Amino acid sequence: MILHPRTLHRIGPFILCLVLLWAITAQAGEAPPIRVGGAVPAVEIASQSEYLLDYSGRLQYQDILSSGQPFQRHTKYSFQFSFKRATLWFKCRIAPADSGDETALASRRSFLVFDNAALGAVTLYVPVILDGKPDLIEFHGGWRQGEKSREFPFLYPTFVLPDNLDASRPVVVRVATPYALQFRATLYTIDAFRKMSFVLFLIVGFFAGILIAMILYNLALYLFIRDRQYLFYITYIGFLLLWQCVLVGLFQYIWPPLGAFLMSGIPVFAALMMIFAVSFGIVFLNTPKTAPRHDKLLKGLAVFIGTIIALVLLRQLWLGNLLSYLSGQVVSVVLFTAALSSLRSGFRPALFYLIAFGVFLLCAFVFFFKFYGLIPNNTFTMHIVIFGSAAEAVLLSFALGYRIRIMQEEEEQLRERERDLEAISVTDELTGLFNRRFLNPALVKKTAAARRSGTRLSLLMLDVDHFKDFNDTYGHPEGDKVLAALGGLLIQTLREEDIACRYGGEEFVVILHNADLNAAMEAAERIRAGFEKISFRPDPKKEIFATVSIGAAELLPQETPEQLLFRADQAMYQAKQTGRNRICSA
Ligand code: GH3
Ligand code: MG
Ligand code: MG
Repeated sequence: MILHPRTLHRIGPFILCLVLLWAITAQAGEAPPIRVGGAVPAVEIASQSEYLLDYSGRLQYQDILSSGQPFQRHTKYSFQFSFKRATLWFKCRIAPADSGDETALASRRSFLVFDNAALGAVTLYVPVILDGKPDLIEFHGGWRQGEKSREFPFLYPTFVLPDNLDASRPVVVRVATPYALQFRATLYTIDAFRKMSFVLFLIVGFFAGILIAMILYNLALYLFIRDRQYLFYITYIGFLLLWQCVLVGLFQYIWPPLGAFLMSGIPVFAALMMIFAVSFGIVFLNTPKTAPRHDKLLKGLAVFIGTIIALVLLRQLWLGNLLSYLSGQVVSVVLFTAALSSLRSGFRPALFYLIAFGVFLLCAFVFFFKFYGLIPNNTFTMHIVIFGSAAEAVLLSFALGYRIRIMQEEEEQLRERERDLEAISVTDELTGLFNRRFLNPALVKKTAAARRSGTRLSLLMLDVDHFKDFNDTYGHPEGDKVLAALGGLLIQTLREEDIACRYGGEEFVVILHNADLNAAMEAAERIRAGFEKISFRPDPKKEIFATVSIGAAELLPQETPEQLLFRADQAMYQAKQTGRNRICSA
């Protein structure tokens, strides 16, 4: 096979890397002791250590020193306890920091940092030279060590190694933890430690600041808007904040007894955070309606996660932690697919939820890839969940605002439709007046109100004259035009407070607000006179006029609405009897 020069050009750097890598590994024989300083401000010691997993948990420092122990070289990026219930021992030779200035003793000290605050007990056996003789110093750290602790106060278990380190003997480290954990052990110079701790506090401050701001902001919104979704959001973000702050060692740093207590409940905080994440998801996505199958699954999951809390209360930390890891992955997938399903069912706000949650999931994936050793454990991957959570908290807050706006809009549309429907159900289509369904309750209300306020109330009953003949001569549609014209005239002639109804066929009823019989007669006359002037042209060559007979009645004390209606009808009948196109009163 002949390689094309261009192909060679492409794979050339790759081959060079391989050769370099081989050269580096081939050189690693008897390694010199680890030392920071000068051009090397920090060294991760995992790759330069030998480690041993003690599944019995009984080994002592003396046993470790005896030569028969099966120590192995560590090749992973970080020490990892994933799903292994064992005590970890590791050892490596460490020389005092290289200060470049042998007289500056303080700068010959180095910091050994275990970058996971949840480690239960870390014990260091540090060989030193004291007065020219070999000696040993024990350091204890981690949240389970209590009074024995001899740590440098920091978020993570941190130890200051003395300047009289004996580089000819190994530093031995014992790590026991109730949780499945990962950590890096890094040796820093003082300056490098200072920089690292500054960045870490910055990250924690940034995260906590954003989450606290989001909690306060949404609390304020809740107080104004009173939508219970805000409460679910606040509780979810609150537990997320608590969980992450405990995990990063903040309480341990501020007040160790509280920190130790909270550390022993990490799976509980994780569980509560997940339960509220699920509750918020259910409420936000309205899963009972928009994703019913996921709804059941989510509620089942929430109950299952509740058992994690019970496990921790029964002191089953390891199992509780394991289950919370697993639940975290399942919950993420189910919430995400629930949001997808909700979006597919046409629920628009689900899109914003998906974006917010997607950002978090992306970060969670990075974390789990790291957890399973697929990508390196570094400052970025270690804190990726923090960044993801902060971004999610902000985006979810936007999503919540958007959702509530959409919901308000939809509610407004619904109310408008209801109003329209209501209006339609009491409106007469042909004339635009109210219909008979509206008249009866309106008349009851109006008479009661008139009695209460002591105002007068009158009623008009109208009937088009000889309308049957008109229909028979010019047809029903032409007759409709006459009815519509009368409707228009009534709307025009009457005041806003008066109520005009089409009572049936060509009969109309008008309720006159605050009108005695005289006023009613005047109104009736305006209608009668107005109507007889309206001309109709059922036939282009002919101009036709229609008339109306009106009965008027004023509400009497003690009278029922039916009796009033009956009297007005009688008066109208009388108007018909006495020649039509006139008004009679009762
Ligand atoms: P009168 O002067 O005594 O009232 O005579 P009239 O012909 O108006 O008598 P009547 O009240 O019995 O006639 C009612 C007519 O109204 C019968 C029917 O054809 C007509 N009508 C009822 N509803 C409608 C409608 O919705 N449209 C039209 N075009 N005609 C209607
Ligand atoms: Mg009639
Ligand atoms: Mg009639």
